[in-house]
Amino acid sequence: MTAPDLSVVIPVYNEEAGLQALFDRLYPALDALAIRYEVIFVNDGSSDRSAAILAGQFSKRPDTTRVILFNGNYGQHLAIMAGFMHTRGNRVVSLDADLQNPPEEIGKLLAKMDEGYDYVGTIRRQRQDSTFRRWTSRLMNWVRERITRIRMTDQGCMLRAYSRQIVDTINSCREVNTFIPALAFTFAQRPTEVEVAHEERAAGETKYSIYKLIRLNFDLVTGFSLVPLQTFSLAGIAISLVSLVFVVVLAIRRLIVGPEAEGLFTLFGIAFFLIGIALFGIGLLGEYVGRIYEQVRQRPRYLIEAVLEQADGERAAGDLKARRVV
Ligand code: UDP
Ligand code: MG
Repeated sequence: MTAPDLSVVIPVYNEEAGLQALFDRLYPALDALAIRYEVIFVNDGSSDRSAAILAGQFSKRPDTTRVILFNGNYGQHLAIMAGFMHTRGNRVVSLDADLQNPPEEIGKLLAKMDEGYDYVGTIRRQRQDSTFRRWTSRLMNWVRERITRIRMTDQGCMLRAYSRQIVDTINSCREVNTFIPALAFTFAQRPTEVEVAHEERAAGETKYSIYKLIRLNFDLVTGFSLVPLQTFSLAGIAISLVSLVFVVVLAIRRLIVGPEAEGLFTLFGIAFFLIGIALFGIGLLGEYVGRIYEQVRQRPRYLIEAVLEQADGERAAGDLKARRVV
């Protein structure tokens, strides 16, 4: 079998309300490109009817559709990782299932790749998210710019195109908690960005609670940079030096003035401040240790219950039988 020109990877988690609308726009948009393509849906342990709807779509378009069914919820980025593993295309595009990334824009990304870029990121024109989401991601962009070498105007948009080589490199990574756009950027040799439209969620609601968003951003920071730890140890040195001066001054005053009990609350203030910094440091260290812990356990990152796809020979014969892989 010759490889398709394009593989589209879409993670799906409880998206039953919007999937049909996605199919109705995605397939015509891809057909219009007049290239050989495959769409890989990864069902991330949805508890609604998403898996059944995906299976239905597979039986309608088995030649261009493949469905990976996880046995639980492992998160958007691991779902994309699993999708990447199954891609056969010369180029790969990732996309959200909620139609926030218009499928009609895929052609624009591919045109950019034709110019010789190996990674095409996107900037959302008129982002359709809440003000809170926009401001927090602006803040995280700012932090990331300062502590990593990753340069992305808009890290949050999953509509992105990658060369086969980048996807192969990502496939060789064994990271447990990762952030695909940043990981891909670190492997890109000629990255670029294009502006794309952004729409409101077609149906359903966001799968990211504030807690999940915070976790994701921790992954981004601790997964791609040691700067937070290094900054912390530098701050530790600075604080120790200041404290040393403080101790010397107090010792001299003790000898000259005698015992003093004034300034108790100032001392409390200073102590609380230092305890706060120490706790933050322990937490920060914990983030890195936690990553190491998850990595060294070497458990499988996700478990695939079934893959719905046509076997190569069957594809040629047009047989619809699904293959089950555990
Ligand atoms: N998603 C997933 N697993 C999860 C959470 C989300 O596969 O645990 C998928 C979801 O179905 C969607 C994409 O990841 O296709 C982005 O999720 P969402 O639209 O909720 O994120 P937001 O756009 O609010 O950042
Ligand atoms: Mg969304």
